[in-house]
Amino acid sequence: MMIFDYFSMPAMFFLIIGACIGSFLNVCIYRIPENKSIVFPGSFCPVCKKSIPFYCNIPVLSYVFLKGRCKFCHKPISIRYPFIEILTGIFAVLLFYKFGPGWAMAYWFVFISVLITISFIDIDHQIIPDIISLPGILIFASSFYFLPEMTIKDTLLGIFAGGGSLYAVAYLYFLLKKQEGMGGGDIKLLAMIGAATGIKGVFFTIFAGSLFGTFFGILIMIYTKIADSKLKIPFGPFLSLGAILYIFFGEQLIQWYLAILKP
Ligand SMILES: [Zn+2]
Repeated sequence: MMIFDYFSMPAMFFLIIGACIGSFLNVCIYRIPENKSIVFPGSFCPVCKKSIPFYCNIPVLSYVFLKGRCKFCHKPISIRYPFIEILTGIFAVLLFYKFGPGWAMAYWFVFISVLITISFIDIDHQIIPDIISLPGILIFASSFYFLPEMTIKDTLLGIFAGGGSLYAVAYLYFLLKKQEGMGGGDIKLLAMIGAATGIKGVFFTIFAGSLFGTFFGILIMIYTKIADSKLKIPFGPFLSLGAILYIFFGEQLIQWYLAILKP
């Protein structure tokens, strides 16, 4: 398939819609940990507090036209804002190509949007707010309704496996090291991932997330020469990455892995 095909009309449409929702995710990431409303007031510059007019709040484009600076105080705007907008837009397009327009695509888009929000809050504050993860467990438990491959049993098993297994690992870690290795936030996040992906998705996510997290941790240790016990690496983004990998390639990767294990 030619690369040009990827810029078809529907793909462009979902890219733009996704970027606009990414813009809203930026607001959530910034305001939810501070217990501020995500609806009111409208967007404002975090430095000079001036409200941003709508024509300066167009995803990605405004950042480019304003050369990454606030229109009023000219202080630099974090590159993370347009990055999250593009990222959300790209996931919307990828989901469109994977599932086609429909309930599955919509379901996974909401799910990935929540994972993006949780990941960046976790990176900034080392917390995963209950106000997102707990309603998330309930909302994404609708997976058996929206996703053809899921059943009620699979949804419930996913929630309990996600919450339970990580709790067991956290408890074991606590017994061995007498310190908390994993936050309660990660456990609720994994229960939410379990609600969406079922028991297979949960174990895939733990496996892939731990692999990503360990790899990243080793890189940071080599790079900064800070000892393992002093490092505070949030686990949420890696679990999220694992879950997203499962949505797109989980089935193929599991088949591939099982084929390798066979003698
Ligand atoms: Zn400003």
